[in-house]
Amino acid sequence: MKGLGIKGLCQGLTFDTSQFVKPLDNVFNRLLIIIPGIGHGIEGSLMSNQEFRDFNLIKPIYRALRDMNYTNPTPVQLQSIPPLLAGRDLLGCAQTGTGKTAAFALPIIQHLARNQRRRERGFVRALIVTPTRELAAQIYENLNMYSKYLDVTSVVVFGGVKQNSQVKSLNKGVDILVATPGRLLDLISQGYIKLEKVEFFVLDEADRMLDMGFIPDVRRILKYLPNKRQTMFFSATLSPKIIQLSKSMIHNPIRVDVTPEKPVVELIDQRLMNTKTKQEKSTVLMNILKEQNVKKALVFTRTKHGANKLAKLLARADIEALAIHGNKTQNARQKALENFKSGRIKVLIATDIAARGIDVEGISHVINHDIPNVAETYVHRIGRTARAGCRGISISLCGPEENEFIRDIEKLIKQSIPVVDVKPYMTKVELNPEEPRPQVQNRPSQKRNVHKPRNPQGQNRRKQRGQASPGSQARRGNHNR
Ligand code: AMP
Repeated sequence: MKGLGIKGLCQGLTFDTSQFVKPLDNVFNRLLIIIPGIGHGIEGSLMSNQEFRDFNLIKPIYRALRDMNYTNPTPVQLQSIPPLLAGRDLLGCAQTGTGKTAAFALPIIQHLARNQRRRERGFVRALIVTPTRELAAQIYENLNMYSKYLDVTSVVVFGGVKQNSQVKSLNKGVDILVATPGRLLDLISQGYIKLEKVEFFVLDEADRMLDMGFIPDVRRILKYLPNKRQTMFFSATLSPKIIQLSKSMIHNPIRVDVTPEKPVVELIDQRLMNTKTKQEKSTVLMNILKEQNVKKALVFTRTKHGANKLAKLLARADIEALAIHGNKTQNARQKALENFKSGRIKVLIATDIAARGIDVEGISHVINHDIPNVAETYVHRIGRTARAGCRGISISLCGPEENEFIRDIEKLIKQSIPVVDVKPYMTKVELNPEEPRPQVQNRPSQKRNVHKPRNPQGQNRRKQRGQASPGSQARRGNHNR
């Protein structure tokens, strides 16, 4: 099937995509889409000249797309929708921000709307599995918008919140389920979700699933799925491991690569600031954030604890900031994100995993408070600015122990990051006093607290050796991202 274009694959297609498509190999029906310009964002150079009208989509879907001001399909949509409508499996190499959600969602919605069935409690017809809660919520929102004129229902389930309302929605019967792996398996084991009748399965961000250790969960989920189904497998990168994984779930797929011609980093004004101590880092950061041109800044820290600490420090400098990471409740994460999106706060502090998949417009600055130790993460982080063809600024605050990470990054992006002098950013920032810690009051009845600790020797010995208490050690042993 070498070099087979979309035109040859799909019935009812009225356009020729050959100018976008280059045959690559015959392992899959593989298409490489060269996108002039950048790889992130939707407007401008990423849009094709084709229109959604060129697809065989039903009217209620067009109406919904019109409401959302989608006029032209993005390349990943252009290449995926026709073969998916024709029932093919798909292996897609595309990042968040390319329009991949609509690429898989529209054909699913169309099929479900055209082939209505009575909904059965617990059974789902389409399953979309995605690694993070934020991404799950985002996909769910999009599904609702695309299907707003149709009788196609969606539910989203993820961990970190109580399951009651999710179970309630599932009990009503549902067509499309968006889920993160852990909660999905939980609800399956409790009998609330049944996957035997799934007709469509989407695995989103497979490379992230791998990074986050979800692959065993994904394999368990696969065991519940019927063999006869249409599968769409998406990943931002296609390493041999990912290709291997994909082969266990897709059959004779069409392959779509949306590969940026130029790396996205070219639209970003990158700066490196060398600091000597942690305190210096914080001072420089606060001075940067106080500058006028910082409209919306996403600040990355390596750990959840670091994110919390930084949010507290910025509050003392009257800089409104919120932190999102895996230890925050889903509600807190959602609220922080909404406040950041709407501009109510100008600084969001995030760890890498929490920030995954977040699609926020107008981020003027990405600041690496900590330099990532994986070079690809740097590219991913700074790509949060300069979306939709706009320019953006990234600033990396580098401590002496992080120099080697910068060297790896520069090797990857094949350029050295211009160094900016930190001196102008070293002015002392006035900090408000720290909030006093809440005092634990001894109640008169709690006589035990009045006496000395029960095991003073043990505690003192630990102190002398500089060890933490067993409880705090266990807490630190948690995944700290
Ligand atoms: P995604 O990669 O699916 O997360 O999409 C990124 C952003 O692009 C989302 O805000 C979508 O609503 C938007 N989008 C997707 N497809 C189109 C399109 N054809 N035209 C305009 N915006 C789009």
